[in-house]
Amino acid sequence: MARIGFIGVGNMGGPMARNLVKAGHALRAYDLDPGKLGEAVAGGAEAAADIAGAATGAEVVVTMLPAGRHVRGAYSDEGGILASAPAGALLIDCSTIDVATAREVAATAEAAGFAMLDAPVSGGVVGAEAATLTFMVGGSEDGFTRARPLLDAMGRNIFHAGPSGAGQAAKMCNNMILGISMIGVSEAFALARKVGLDPKKLFEVSSTASGQCWALTTYCPEPGILEGAPSSKGYKPGFTAAMMLKDLKLAQDAAGGSGAETPLGRHAMELYERFVEAGGAETDFSGIIRMLKGQDA
Ligand code: NAD
Repeated sequence: MARIGFIGVGNMGGPMARNLVKAGHALRAYDLDPGKLGEAVAGGAEAAADIAGAATGAEVVVTMLPAGRHVRGAYSDEGGILASAPAGALLIDCSTIDVATAREVAATAEAAGFAMLDAPVSGGVVGAEAATLTFMVGGSEDGFTRARPLLDAMGRNIFHAGPSGAGQAAKMCNNMILGISMIGVSEAFALARKVGLDPKKLFEVSSTASGQCWALTTYCPEPGILEGAPSSKGYKPGFTAAMMLKDLKLAQDAAGGSGAETPLGRHAMELYERFVEAGGAETDFSGIIRMLKGQDA
């Protein structure tokens, strides 16, 4: 059993924290949103009053925050994790952020005597709840070995992607595939309707044919096909369109900086920009099908 500080118990962090409690660990949680913190307490965590309260005395600190600036602040600000966690604590950032910030925060943490991993996840809220997430981990072999039992309690497929930042690089490439494929699947359902094909038939065929992909079979954007998917719950997130846009921008920034050709990644980013500007920011990212069908966000 480990003493864990868990910071950021939102859509993803909430169920991940619950799974660590279920596995027998002692959790002290903190979130800026008292409602989210209350849910974590209902799931068996102790509430901390601030970041320092969650990190003090922890053997491991896990963060699950929106973006790079939140992560940098949580670790490096006054009263942050680096100032509060005991020397030698293992720090695991599970947020999806840019590679440069991940490497910078890890280098600062390591200079201060901590082992730090970037360990972003894939699998959505459904995967977080079922403890079936995929973890893509960047950092030292030793840190990875120490983190493994905790990651096993929250996920099913755990990969050591390489040194610091490699987890974020893998996640960014994966989510560019996801953004593009969600738009592809959505366009196919919009087209099916126009040409008089029953969407249930398209699902039946394509989920066993060459169009099969996660966006179709696990997260189908067409409502009324998969009971548990956000599309069947009014596009309640899930994974917001704003978060997908953030990830597609990370990929475009990295493509620009490295000279990689990613024309579909760029177009997917532009379509998500339009959807977010039309009011879809807090809608699940699969809700982009509504825009592609000419409906309101
Ligand atoms: P979320 O907004 O639901 O949760 C983030 C939480 O962090 C919020 O509850 C917020 O109040 C809290 N927070 C922000 N700043 C804080 C601070 N300084 N101190 C304490 N708490 C703070 O977001 P989410 O959907 O859980 O996503 C979290 C991360 O996981 C993001 O980087 C996202 O890209 C990534 N991710 C999300 C999904 C998904 O399906 N939702 C899937 C994979 C990865």
